[in-house]
This record gives sequence, structure tokens and C-alpha cells, in this order.
Amino acid sequence: MVATLAHLLLLRSEAGEPALLWGREAKPFYGPAFDRLIVAGVLVARAPALEWQVCDDCDCGRDWRPIERIDGRLVAVCPLDHAADVVLDPEDLESYEINPAALVHEIAVSSGFVGEPSEVIGGLWHLGRSASGRQLFLVLSRVCALQPGLIAAIRLVDGASQTTLITPALSAAESVRFAEAGIHVVSSEEGIGDSGESCFAIDPAKLEPARISATRLSIVRSSQRVVLDGIERHVPQQPFRLLVLLAETAIRKGGFVRRVEIEAANSGRTASDLVRELRDCLAAGAAEPDQVRRLIKTRRSPSGYALALESHEIDLR
Ligand SMILES: [Zn+2]
Repeated sequence: MVATLAHLLLLRSEAGEPALLWGREAKPFYGPAFDRLIVAGVLVARAPALEWQVCDDCDCGRDWRPIERIDGRLVAVCPLDHAADVVLDPEDLESYEINPAALVHEIAVSSGFVGEPSEVIGGLWHLGRSASGRQLFLVLSRVCALQPGLIAAIRLVDGASQTTLITPALSAAESVRFAEAGIHVVSSEEGIGDSGESCFAIDPAKLEPARISATRLSIVRSSQRVVLDGIERHVPQQPFRLLVLLAETAIRKGGFVRRVEIEAANSGRTASDLVRELRDCLAAGAAEPDQVRRLIKTRRSPSGYALALESHEIDLR
């Protein structure tokens, strides 16, 4: 069973219009929240069904079979085989049409958007800007998601911004052109629901592309472990302490550690001697040893050393 009413409506909207919701599926969600969607025009009740689909592999030749009231029960009667009769619940005759514009409005309001969503081209809705500054778009059906000109239409709204498109789930091949255009795609099942008070609310955490780990240098103090570009390096205690000092400085404020600081922390050895040993340790066995050596930059005056890495490239624990 589908977990939330929002997911059920989104699932039924994927195949395009008219999107129908049958009472049998909707019944577990009947209640105040469901009634409110009817009042809001998201769900429009249709006339009760008078006919039912024929039984599987039936020879009756009909497209539909009649629903009859027999002994107070509703029965979809097979004209050929009464063993194939289906007893129906009253809810089975109920159905609702899902109004796409009203559903998009419901999602936008539940997600805290103040402005009304605008339909950019058929079925492509612009919800507005997220709290993190991303432009947010939504399509309900697969046909809309894959229509020609969709990406150009998105770019025309605001070509400069980071963009996320919420859409029915796409295959990897279908997602490629969005990735190439720099549009982050999130499936509606993943991006909507379970985060806020309403199951129709967009989860802000799902709008950002997963940050690709950019760590180049990881250092574990307790085990004196050093991994550079995915390869473990053996670094003895003294140069290890120097590496930690350089990493701390790079993370906290950037810039150089002065020679006198290094020598004060390692009595009896010159800073240049320690740096040489650390460079040797890091470069041992590396494919490009000279490049690795240059990871420790030298400054002449005032004399000092620094890691040529950004703070987000260093993981110091
Ligand atoms: Zn039949």
C-alpha cells in the first residue's frame, strides 16, 4: 500500500490526465484530511460507477458488466458465470478526478511557498525559490517531464540559478539530459512527504544534490593514521605532529605555520629537516611524488610552511 495520501495522488498523476483515484484505493485515507482535499478542489468526486470491468478472460464479449443490487449487496454480475461475480463495497463505486493545478497549489502551500505556482509550459510548474536559493520546479506526469523544450523552458525562468526539478521517477537514461543541463532531479516519492506536518510538504533536505566527498587528506590522531588521495601513508610520530599542526591551521584559518612555532614544538630538530621528512613520507610510492611534495608550501619571509589544501579537502579527527 502507498504510505501517504500525497504519494497516492502523485502516483495516480504520473500517467497524465485525467488522473483518477478510485474509492477502493482511497478508502484507507478517508477522513478529515481527505475531505479537506475535496473542499480545496484537489479531488473532484465523480458520479458513482454503474458498470464494472469484465472478469479476466471472459467470453461474454462485453466491454463492461452491469452492477446490480442483490440481497442488499452490490454485485458486478458476470452474464456467463456467476462464480465470477464480484461483490463490491460502496466505496468501489466511488472515484475522484485529481485536479493537477489544485494538487500543485496544495504542495506549494504545504511547503511554505507564498506566491502562487505558475505553469511555465504545459504541466511544468515553477514553485519559486527555496530557502537555500534554488529555483524549484515540479511536474506531475512522465509525459510532461519528458516533453521537448522542458529544459529550455526551465532555463528561461532563471538560467543563472541552481535548479531542482521534482518529477515522477525517471530512468538513469532519462535523467542524463537533466544532469547535463545542471538540473538536479528528485523523484516526487523521495522529495515530497514525511518531513513536515503535511504529507504534501517538500523536504528541503532532498533539494540539494548530494555533496561529493572531496576529502584528499584524512588524519586520525588516535591511531596516527594518514590517508592521502585514498592511499595510506606511513608517517612517524614527529612528522605526524607537524602534519596535524599544518592541518589544524589550514582548517581553522588557512595560512602558514611559522618556522619558530614548529621548532618550539619539536626540540632539537630544525623545521626544514622535519618538513623534508614529512614530504618524503607522503611522497613515498606516489605516482607523482613531486606533486605530493608540493602539498607542503614553503614561505621565505617570515619563514613558514602551509598545506596546499582547502579546509574541506582535509578530514582531521
Ligand atoms: Zn465474465
